[in-house]
Amino acid sequence: MLNSSFAFNRLPVTPANFDFHCHSIVSDGFLPPAVVAQRAAGNGVDLWALTDHDDLGGLAEARAAAEAAGMGFVNGVEISIEWRGVPIHVVGLGFDAASPALTGGLDELRLGRVERARRMGDALAAIGIPGVYEGALTFVTNPSLISRAHFARYMVSINIARDVSGIFQHYLTPGKPGYVDHRWATLEDAVGWITSAGGVAVVAHPGRYKMSGADMRRFLGDFKDVGGQGIEVTCGSHSPDHIMHFARLARHHAFHASRGSDFHGPEESYVDLGRLPPLPEDLKPIWRLVI
Ligand code: AMP
Ligand code: MN
Ligand code: MN
Ligand code: MN
Repeated sequence: MLNSSFAFNRLPVTPANFDFHCHSIVSDGFLPPAVVAQRAAGNGVDLWALTDHDDLGGLAEARAAAEAAGMGFVNGVEISIEWRGVPIHVVGLGFDAASPALTGGLDELRLGRVERARRMGDALAAIGIPGVYEGALTFVTNPSLISRAHFARYMVSINIARDVSGIFQHYLTPGKPGYVDHRWATLEDAVGWITSAGGVAVVAHPGRYKMSGADMRRFLGDFKDVGGQGIEVTCGSHSPDHIMHFARLARHHAFHASRGSDFHGPEESYVDLGRLPPLPEDLKPIWRLVI
């Protein structure tokens, strides 16, 4: 059933190119929300969500720019959680951005990021790289949202490695000296914030988690048990094998399938907005649940 906001957005009845995962300067992306919107529309995206990490601050600007460009828009966010010690990202779509449960939970998450960032700075100072927390702050574009990406960009700027991948590989991933454990949201809390705000919860880029097949199946079972309904099958970091694998898991768990570039900016992304293969045809597309 298409609701009135769908008609108001002048959407095609069947979106041909939806992209439900990307970032702006409200988290660790490089472009303002309106510029991301224009770029998405220019690339042929007809239904779009902005999904900044743990922050809803870009949604109003994104929606206005999407509507001006004749593109459909749904609210989005990418929430950082931890499940059995594994950091995982859950995308929320189509929620009420004024929900106190959701905004309050995200406020806590952003405060936790600041405390984690200070510990990352201390850990890097202990191996002889001082001042990285302060340096990372100069790369932050939203004073209340600091991410490992900002650390990596600063560390590249002082020639610790040639590019951000090298920084992540040698300093910012588990077991490396700048990586610190952190308590993110629980799976149950994050999915609860999304669903209580009327939204739909989606597992982000499942191919990126360091998990056995058995743990992935257990995680997806837990995700479904707490109210999760979707999984990214086609996304910027998925190979054709990943797409086939997670399409099978989507069928097995009866999840709706999502598609998202995870675009951060022209220089630091897997693919550009909307430039993704289509979903396997038999899957139920997630947009059916959010428009
Ligand atoms: P955080 O949420 O602070 O843990 O930071 C995670 C962010 O860092 C991701 O959303 C990406 O933007 C970025 N990131 C993670 N791993 C890599 C990588 N290997 N190369 C480049 N960027 C990465
Ligand atoms: Mn990011
Ligand atoms: Mn992510
Ligand atoms: Mn992302």
